[in-house]
Amino acid sequence: MSRVIRALLLAASAGLLTTLAGAQSNELNLYSARHYQTDEALYSQFTKATGIKINRVDADDAGILARLKAEGTASPADVILLVDAARLGKGQVEGLFRPIKSPLLEAAVPAQLRAAAGSDGIAWFGLSTRARVVVYDKTRVKREDVDTYEELADPKNKGRVCLRSGSHPYNLSLFGSMLEHLGPAKMENWLQGLKANLARAPKGGDTDQIRAVASGECAVAISNSYYIARLMRSGQAQDQALMSKFEVVFPNQQSWGTHLNIAGAAVARHSKNPQAAIQFIEYLASPQAQTYFADGNNEWPVVASVKTTNAALQAMSGGAFKAETVPVAQVAAHQVRVQQMLDRIGFR
Ligand code: FE
Repeated sequence: MSRVIRALLLAASAGLLTTLAGAQSNELNLYSARHYQTDEALYSQFTKATGIKINRVDADDAGILARLKAEGTASPADVILLVDAARLGKGQVEGLFRPIKSPLLEAAVPAQLRAAAGSDGIAWFGLSTRARVVVYDKTRVKREDVDTYEELADPKNKGRVCLRSGSHPYNLSLFGSMLEHLGPAKMENWLQGLKANLARAPKGGDTDQIRAVASGECAVAISNSYYIARLMRSGQAQDQALMSKFEVVFPNQQSWGTHLNIAGAAVARHSKNPQAAIQFIEYLASPQAQTYFADGNNEWPVVASVKTTNAALQAMSGGAFKAETVPVAQVAAHQVRVQQMLDRIGFR
């Protein structure tokens, strides 16, 4: 093809794209694994400020990734909101995202809380953080015996530990972080020890593990911080009763810090309106939006200048805690290797 014809074709297709984008620029299709009232308020604020309407499709992380794959180039999705680094990493590896170029997002979101930069941009950005903390029964366990992740695999905690499935993304991310900190040999030993310490076969979600500590079925469990904050903020008597049955510890305060995970956003690979999609994600990273976005699920904002106003989180962490500084992208990248280890040692 001659250079002139190619240039003409490019110009023509660029014109066509402009027309398509123009026709759709007043709407964004959001596939979201988050569904909170505060998020709703944020979306209507965005619409008010920009005239761009948000159409939301709700599903969980795995459902959204499956749907994007099935829809392929015909997907109407523009913005993707997921609630775990391992899932965001999976979407990236599977080519479901369109890399973002945004100096604003690069300035707002710490490098540690976003995908590694490629030549064509950054695949996803964290928008809020959650800590993976330890919950324990203080009548059965001493705090100093469970205040590091390493100790959960120590024989002194035999028969005490409850955990959701090792293959759940929250645990794949935690284990990916352990692989980063311990190296493969020590990490596999740690997993073996953790498995040997289980009070029961993994089942249920994080809140089920907390309930199992409260009921005495286990003495120690691991949970994302927001599940505990939800219980703390609940007006229900049964939740308050549950709260009185366990203590929370932010592990590894004397070493590398507590494991952090993120909720984050990406632009869909086949978005017809990528500029508006980026504009929307930039809006979610703005100081005004950050507090509401994080608070909607009792999380911490990613933007360093924005402080949480969530009293439950303040009370739980004693105001501040030491978080690990390993890039979440590195942790997410370990998930396949971690799953192979889990399979090898028969950790469900
Ligand atoms: Fe969750």
